[in-house]
Amino acid sequence: MLHNVRIVLIGTTHPGNIGASARAMKNMGLQQLWLVRPKLFPHAEATARASGADDLLAAARVCDDLDQALAGCRLVVGASARLRSLRWPQLDPRQCGHRLIPEAAQGEVALLFGRESSGLSNAELDRCHYLVHIPANPDYSSLNLAQAVQVLCYELRMASLEQAGPAAGGEPREVADAAAMEGLFGHLQQTMEQLGFANPEQSTTLQRRLRRLFLRARPDQDEVNILRGLLSAAGKRGGGA
Ligand code: SAH
Repeated sequence: MLHNVRIVLIGTTHPGNIGASARAMKNMGLQQLWLVRPKLFPHAEATARASGADDLLAAARVCDDLDQALAGCRLVVGASARLRSLRWPQLDPRQCGHRLIPEAAQGEVALLFGRESSGLSNAELDRCHYLVHIPANPDYSSLNLAQAVQVLCYELRMASLEQAGPAAGGEPREVADAAAMEGLFGHLQQTMEQLGFANPEQSTTLQRRLRRLFLRARPDQDEVNILRGLLSAAGKRGGGA
């Protein structure tokens, strides 16, 4: 199950953090390291800090954008050093392990980590079903990137050792993947504008709430197709046809 968990590091500045993350992952039995636009990679500092986990670095997938890193993923969790103002569904590290591991038994899942300086952007958070926050000292809550990777990978390992069982994940189900969900959200926005339901400036918050609704529902591909058929029909009427 751990093999189906992608650790996705976005815009990492320090190559040493990439190496130390690879080491943390390998210690806990994880394999898949995905790097979205790293500043410096490959790099000697990454190799030095990986110290024996350089096979994970060699196999790391480097991507230009998050879409590539999330292709085929059924569940996405973002690690955030701050509690966000928007009430996004939140998990603590233990709950994160128990949520991800049963899903990983059914397919690919991803855990996203942000930049050292600025964390994850709102657009990146929008891609997540849940946020996970390590409940650190509220006055000093931002961990070093690789140490945050370590804590969350440890909880994934503990959850996999406990064999969380099917209860936490419910019935096995073929949910729509990340690309299908993005297709739905794009279509939804386009139709809302077409119908005059929301203008582009006002629609950001609305769009985010609708994202949350549909990400919570976890539709399967047939359900996404039905919704998109409905949007197409509504768009035609709204367009004056
Ligand atoms: N200054 C940034 C923190 C970046 S730390 C900010 O305020 O957002 C780099 C990354 O490590 C974060 O994006 C997050 O993915 C992870 N991280 C650090 N501390 C964390 C914490 N307490 N809980 C969850 N993830 C954390």
